[in-house]
Amino acid sequence: MIRHGVKRGTKWLGMILSAAIFMMPVSAAAQTKISYHSNRYQPADDVRLGRQAAAEAEQQFPLLRDADVTAYVERVGQRLAAAIPPEFQHPEFRYYFKVINASDINAFALPGGPMYVNRGMIEAARTEGEMAGVMAHELSHVALRHGTAQATKAQKYAIGAGVAGILGTILAGPTVGQLAQLPIGAYFLKFSREYETEADLLGARIMANAGYDPRDLANVFRTIEARGGGGGGGFLSDHPSPANRYARINQEAQSLHVQNANLDSREFFSIKERLRGYPRAQTMAEIQRSGQRYPNQGNDYPRGDRTNYPSGTLGRVAYPSSRFRTYTELGGVRLSVPDNWRELPDQDSSVWFAPEGAYGTANGTMVYTHGFNLGLAQTRSRDLQQATNEFVNGLQQGNANLRARGSYQRSYVDGRNAVSLSLSNINEATGRSEIVNVVTTQLRNGELLYLISVAPETDYYNYQNAFQNILRSLQLND
Ligand SMILES: [Zn+2]
Repeated sequence: MIRHGVKRGTKWLGMILSAAIFMMPVSAAAQTKISYHSNRYQPADDVRLGRQAAAEAEQQFPLLRDADVTAYVERVGQRLAAAIPPEFQHPEFRYYFKVINASDINAFALPGGPMYVNRGMIEAARTEGEMAGVMAHELSHVALRHGTAQATKAQKYAIGAGVAGILGTILAGPTVGQLAQLPIGAYFLKFSREYETEADLLGARIMANAGYDPRDLANVFRTIEARGGGGGGGFLSDHPSPANRYARINQEAQSLHVQNANLDSREFFSIKERLRGYPRAQTMAEIQRSGQRYPNQGNDYPRGDRTNYPSGTLGRVAYPSSRFRTYTELGGVRLSVPDNWRELPDQDSSVWFAPEGAYGTANGTMVYTHGFNLGLAQTRSRDLQQATNEFVNGLQQGNANLRARGSYQRSYVDGRNAVSLSLSNINEATGRSEIVNVVTTQLRNGELLYLISVAPETDYYNYQNAFQNILRSLQLND
């Protein structure tokens, strides 16, 4: 699927971004004994709330769909989860770990177990232990049930740092249902210093139990600090020097025995090497600006933002009709398209044709599973091959899983020189492999005309003829 960006974020994302700054702040007083805070919710409520928040998170943030990287982070995560002391284990909780393709040095965990580690976090960490340190800290917030404990507290005092305004008319205290309506940042990402200290201390214990050096949890703060506090989000910028926190963790580490020490980072380094093969990740702020997310098919759309509910619905798609209809687009380009496909103007310089069931919008982002896109691009180069490289690189910037399947081929469009490239992608609405074919040629004014066909890999065979017929029908008239 090819992304066409849009320019709206959601309140929810705003909350995440502002809350991100507060993750893992500096500890003040330290208490080695850790216990639960009062909590009016049941562990099953944590699970439910976390699951809802995770569905939202995955609508908003692009996951890095790399099986090797994800499996690796999952393995480290499961090792840490298994090392949570028994008194903080909850049979209801299910810990799982996914990687967000964003450059900010950040990670967050949600009640009941879902955790998201940013690609930037992995790239910034110097060792597996440092990455594990951040994860162990986040895991501790979950195990200690800090999210729902914080909601309980806010309800009790009818205040709560920064949540008073959000609570609005429900100052008397949110029910689980009401809580689920709040942006997740309200309760689940922003914690008091007391909670942060607890997460540091329990995190250090989990590290030691899992065979990591607990001091790596302290070290990672220095690493983040050295990287300017975590990129756009300014990870530590709102907090005093982390020296206190650093010392506190190291002090705690002296009392911890590292079980079955495993300090090997070789796999970590090969994962980092693998990440270097991807185009630069966007920051969360850039993702917010461009709105480059698709709904996951089958999930609900985000609650808070229904204004861009799908105008089409992804679902069953009919095979291309053998009858064609002719259109004139982009100031004179004529083409013929199966007559059961709709014309879907995209921007001034781009139009899609797609069958019912193959397109929809969510959060202002167009989603296509099958279809044909015709558009004009401005490129720096007047050389067809160079201009095409530039264009394809641009597509790849916005589509982390878009990979060339072979090399460029010579081609013709309306008798004019063209180049074509076949790529594979993972459709982020369906999670299915898809084939994306790009053909480009140049108009006489130097603009690059591009023709993109998209269909699921398993279905491509059924669309190939239609795509070829469209290409053959093109008349440029410039
Ligand atoms: Zn924290």
